[in-house]
Amino acid sequence: MYGGSLTKQRLVVLGSTGSIGRQTLDIVKTFPDKFELIGLAAGKNYDLLESQIEEFQPKSVYCIEAPPSIIKNKNIQLLSMEQMVCQPNVDIVMVATSGNSGLIPTIKALEKGITVCIANKEVIIMAGDLIKAISKRSGALLLPVDSEPSAIWQCLQGESQPIRRIILTASGGPFYNMNPAKLGNVTPKQALQHPTWNMGNRITVDSSTLMNKGFEVIEAHILFDVEFENIEVMIHPQSLIHSMVELRDGSIKAQISPPDMRLPIQHALFYPEKVQNPRLRTFDTGVATNMELKPLDEAQYPCFTLAVSAGIKGGTHPTVLTAADEIAVDLFLNHHISFTDIPELVNSVLLNHKFSKADSLENIQAADKWARLQTLSLAGMSQ
Ligand code: MG
Repeated sequence: MYGGSLTKQRLVVLGSTGSIGRQTLDIVKTFPDKFELIGLAAGKNYDLLESQIEEFQPKSVYCIEAPPSIIKNKNIQLLSMEQMVCQPNVDIVMVATSGNSGLIPTIKALEKGITVCIANKEVIIMAGDLIKAISKRSGALLLPVDSEPSAIWQCLQGESQPIRRIILTASGGPFYNMNPAKLGNVTPKQALQHPTWNMGNRITVDSSTLMNKGFEVIEAHILFDVEFENIEVMIHPQSLIHSMVELRDGSIKAQISPPDMRLPIQHALFYPEKVQNPRLRTFDTGVATNMELKPLDEAQYPCFTLAVSAGIKGGTHPTVLTAADEIAVDLFLNHHISFTDIPELVNSVLLNHKFSKADSLENIQAADKWARLQTLSLAGMSQ
């Protein structure tokens, strides 16, 4: 455990070429005497991965189909993500993958008692109860990285009062002011223009439909043991208030900072220590003169409603939700379906799903596979 010790924390970063992965490496670069990067896992962005290997000299690497330049590098060992997190002496794993790819490495790391900083929210949505039970058994820390649950976590540190209500904030996405009748004609390019955050493609589309906010409601329910009826969402276009917690006595705590994921990332990596990062902008009182909070009009965001109801149903429904959404967003980005087809398609898949408990990895993986095939099939795509 970190805590002022002189030894470096040995860190594995899964998803190192994605948005959270790159920003995690930025933190490592800012604090070179605090972390030793021992493993990097990426998908297919080989150019960036190679430059990360050169800069950080990890001992182990994973990528989907390693090119010869990586295979021939004698200083690194090619491992699977599962093998990478199970190496001896790993202290922290940053799970910054997306979709279902972080599921098994997360479970393996937690089983070994290793601290997991989790940015891959699908893992929590798919297997929340399972991974909580594993971390309880092994004593491993499971620390949120997503800005909203991190905000709640930060508000609760040092707080003895129980939570009465959680209020998650949402920017509202690029179509907040658009006439709903025009949403059917939205192009992938328009959906990829998020007003305040610069993120990967799927999460950017999920933020424009507010599916992402529905995922975060499920995530908050799992991580903080708060009933769905006590989790609310408010539109906050400036993305300065990252979420709020109402406590027993009625007081509300909010976490406020400029929209920069490096703060929640470093919060998890350094936990329980808090450090000053000279590279982070400070809060600008000049731009914060108009911090709006408005109620969420759920009718405008059918994906949000779908997500919350799948969360309330529980079992494998959240797994089906996220798998179907991943495929639907991909179909939208490739011009196979329209923007408004996304909730239609995900809803149809959920309606066809037979409830099953999410108490084993096998059940969860079976539901995930079924949902992907079912989504493609309902969209009329050949498999
Ligand atoms: Mg978020």
